[in-house]
Amino acid sequence: MKLLVVEDERMLCDTIAKSLHHAGYEVDCCYDGAEALERLLIEQYDLIVLDLHLPGMDGMEVLERLRQTDAETKVLILSARSQVADKVAGLDAGANDYLEKPFHLQELAARVRSLTRRQFIQQSTALVCGGISFDTRTREALVNGKQIRLTRKEKGILEYLLLHQGRPISQEELMEHVLESNANPFSNVVRMHISSLRKKLREAGGQEYIQAVWGIGFRLDAEGAGKS
Ligand code: CA
Repeated sequence: MKLLVVEDERMLCDTIAKSLHHAGYEVDCCYDGAEALERLLIEQYDLIVLDLHLPGMDGMEVLERLRQTDAETKVLILSARSQVADKVAGLDAGANDYLEKPFHLQELAARVRSLTRRQFIQQSTALVCGGISFDTRTREALVNGKQIRLTRKEKGILEYLLLHQGRPISQEELMEHVLESNANPFSNVVRMHISSLRKKLREAGGQEYIQAVWGIGFRLDAEGAGKS
């Protein structure tokens, strides 16, 4: 999962980014609204943490401009303003959630988890496919009830494939959501992470959960497991 944090108070922005990175997300920071919009044109994010009070173009304008072309990306608004009108305006403009400053970083992380799961109607913090279970809170992966050791990137790939299970995902899409923005787009690093993840899942579960889809990419599928 890749997140963008837009906040002009640099220390706060960096603190939020660090805490969300620690929670397992790839996080980019942006300190003003215009720059945020530019980034949103070229990068794919799963969720944006957006401060309303920004110099120049404020958060509300960023949100409104984003929603003209993108209804999918989740937006969580941050603001020190406690007026009801601001919350209503933000939610009406297409924000998915609202957090008032000051807030606890743990609460922010919990809301981010909840928002990124919401479209998949998942009740618990766990994502499941066949014998695989991945806890989005502890970031532990189990196969047939036994914990397996995955690297940070392997966890990111597994989480993304679990959230989109059954659908073929291209290597480019995985790169956009799992690697940092400054990663070299021509490297085969995603392929290496996937092949290592497939091997670990295969060894732990005795079946091929991640299918290579010819010409497209990869698909995680409980039903397809076994037929490779
Ligand atoms: Ca601010």
